[in-house]
Amino acid sequence: MATSWPGHPGCSHGRQTVERIGSAPGPICDQMGYIRMPKKIPPLASNPPRGYAYPQVMVLEIVKYGHPALRTPGNPVAEITPEIRTLAEDMIETMREAEGVGLAAQQVARPLLLCVLEVPQSDDRPSNLWIDGHPQPLETHMPMVLINPEVKPGREKELGVEGCLSFPEISAEIRRPARCKVTALDLQGKPLAFECDGLLARAVQHEVDHLKGILFIDRMDSATKHSLKRDIQAIQQETLHAIKSTA
Ligand SMILES: [Zn+2]
Repeated sequence: MATSWPGHPGCSHGRQTVERIGSAPGPICDQMGYIRMPKKIPPLASNPPRGYAYPQVMVLEIVKYGHPALRTPGNPVAEITPEIRTLAEDMIETMREAEGVGLAAQQVARPLLLCVLEVPQSDDRPSNLWIDGHPQPLETHMPMVLINPEVKPGREKELGVEGCLSFPEISAEIRRPARCKVTALDLQGKPLAFECDGLLARAVQHEVDHLKGILFIDRMDSATKHSLKRDIQAIQQETLHAIKSTA
């Protein structure tokens, strides 16, 4: 997501160091035309031992409102290839760097049905997660990778503050179902099925909206959206200008 939640900076405890086997990283300009920078440069080694694990997690560019990828519905992930695993790991790192609690593939300009979440448990915005009706400790399921997710929302709705990393500095109260059921595949290709409420339910619904090209401004009531109109337009204009100047 690039959903940052005011008052809820990204969870920094329990962070994992994701290491990958491969060649030394350097800036990579991919087909989408943006540059992926390695987070850490490994020590130089002219002859690294076979299987040397370079810390190669990449922090990706998060695209802002106005970028066409944000309005592009995602394609289903047909197979969990090494490239998909790499993308998911990079998205987790990108989400953490941005202090968000979720990130959708559209937000790194990849229109795929893939999102990542890391929702911390907190007293003022608690979450519950159930599997087969049994409550689960939230932290044992974070970070979470959802591939080809489907959400079945509950009937009851509630207001809650949301932000989005594709809309810097903007936050607003959004009405959403308070609880939802989620099915997806995890990064190992295993089926996931859980029910959740609280901040996790809000974050999952925000992310799955992204995967369909739906943005949180589409969920705002008209008065809220009107009050934020100039700020939203400013982000859009800046993005369009940046795209034009690099074309
Ligand atoms: Zn968002």
